[in-house]
Amino acid sequence: MKKVTKIILQEKDMPTSWYNILPDLPEPLPPLLHPGTQEPTILPPPLFPASLNEQEFSKERYIEIPEEIQEMYKMYRPTPLIRAFRLEQFLGTPAKIFYKYEGVSAAGSHKLNTAIAQAYYNKKAGVKRLATETGAGQWGSALALGCQFFGLECKVYMVKVSYNQKPYRRIMMETWGATVIPSPSTETNIGRQILEKDPNSPGSLGIAISEAVEDAFGRDDTCYSLGSVLNHVILHQTVIGLETKKQLEVADVEADILVGCVGGGSNFGGMAVPFMPAKMKGKKMQIIAVEPTACPSMTKGPLAWDYGDVAGMAPIAKMFTLGHTFIPSPSHAGGLRYHGMSPLVSHLHKLGFIEARAVDQKSTFESAIKFARTEGIIPAPEPSHAIKVVIDEALKCKESGEKKTIVLALSGHGHFDLGSYEQFLAGKLEADTYSEEKVKQALAELPKVKYAG
Ligand SMILES: *Cc1c(COP(=O)(O)O)cnc(C)c1O
Repeated sequence: MKKVTKIILQEKDMPTSWYNILPDLPEPLPPLLHPGTQEPTILPPPLFPASLNEQEFSKERYIEIPEEIQEMYKMYRPTPLIRAFRLEQFLGTPAKIFYKYEGVSAAGSHKLNTAIAQAYYNKKAGVKRLATETGAGQWGSALALGCQFFGLECKVYMVKVSYNQKPYRRIMMETWGATVIPSPSTETNIGRQILEKDPNSPGSLGIAISEAVEDAFGRDDTCYSLGSVLNHVILHQTVIGLETKKQLEVADVEADILVGCVGGGSNFGGMAVPFMPAKMKGKKMQIIAVEPTACPSMTKGPLAWDYGDVAGMAPIAKMFTLGHTFIPSPSHAGGLRYHGMSPLVSHLHKLGFIEARAVDQKSTFESAIKFARTEGIIPAPEPSHAIKVVIDEALKCKESGEKKTIVLALSGHGHFDLGSYEQFLAGKLEADTYSEEKVKQALAELPKVKYAG
């Protein structure tokens, strides 16, 4: 039989519904709590259109993907599932390695899957403008394009250090019509307050979130948009896992191990959730979430009630967390630096359906280089964490002789992260630091929640 490298679905085989796992959970997901009253709450209504709030808590198992969104998905979906023959050969493993490549979207990552959907629902609700934050620029650029497709204005508060050090993502956003401003900015109260105290503030994701939220609260025509963490974001990302399931059927294999990186949990959740019904019925399959040792919420943090944001204004969620005031050391995998973890992914971990592992930055880049030199694709630093675990598992198969099938969620390419590749290749990448002490301090500031629901 001829070797098949790329498993490509036809457009007609694309999913027409997203899969919502909420009604299938054996134990319901804990509610979000209002940061003031600590009573169960929905997402703040002025910030999100009702349609997305409905999706956030929906009990419908399948939610139809509107025609217009399907048409836009077709510009880059179905994404390919690729057999990593050359990596397998290099490792000398009997394992089969597949990767689902989301880097083929114009934005270069999976984030466009939800950016298009969020822009669509906001447009339908009569919203004229979206405000958001971005760190390294992956989310901001995806939302800029989503907004451009639907004729919405897009305002991006970009963490100032990244704004200055990583101009290309900013230029992408501007090319797609977004207005990008370094955060802290003088356009919001919170930004002005911070600049007054420290005119040279480098900014942080937490500050940028606060500015975007203030912007959206302050204008009737504007909503706020989040690129990860929330249920509706993972819902939109289930197209990844739904397609992968079909592609594995076409390839006539079953996944023994699924691996993805987790920042807020959206690409991992999008891959893993469609495989959960089988897993929950007892199918033998390892589902591994990989995080950086610099920000190890699931491997080191407790499952606790915590604020979703640094300022303590966002709803309180039950999640694995290092504490909302924890700021990880600057890691190049900017997208994996969230203090908490998606409540849904946290819940799946608590129920024992997924495993978590942490890997350090140096071995991450070593793995990324192996991948780039065998498969060609230069992976973003975030999914390179998952690649490290894929390689570990493939080498275990080499020892044991097991012919497992390993599936990797390759969430995006690293074309805008070549600066960190340059540092790694020059031997200048700093080692990760993780401070037990800083986490202890941050955990002492967890909100005291009485809710017992
Ligand atoms: C943002 C990002 C991540 C991390 O976010 P998740 O919501 O955990 O998926 C991972 N990979 C890429 C390429 C990203 O842009």
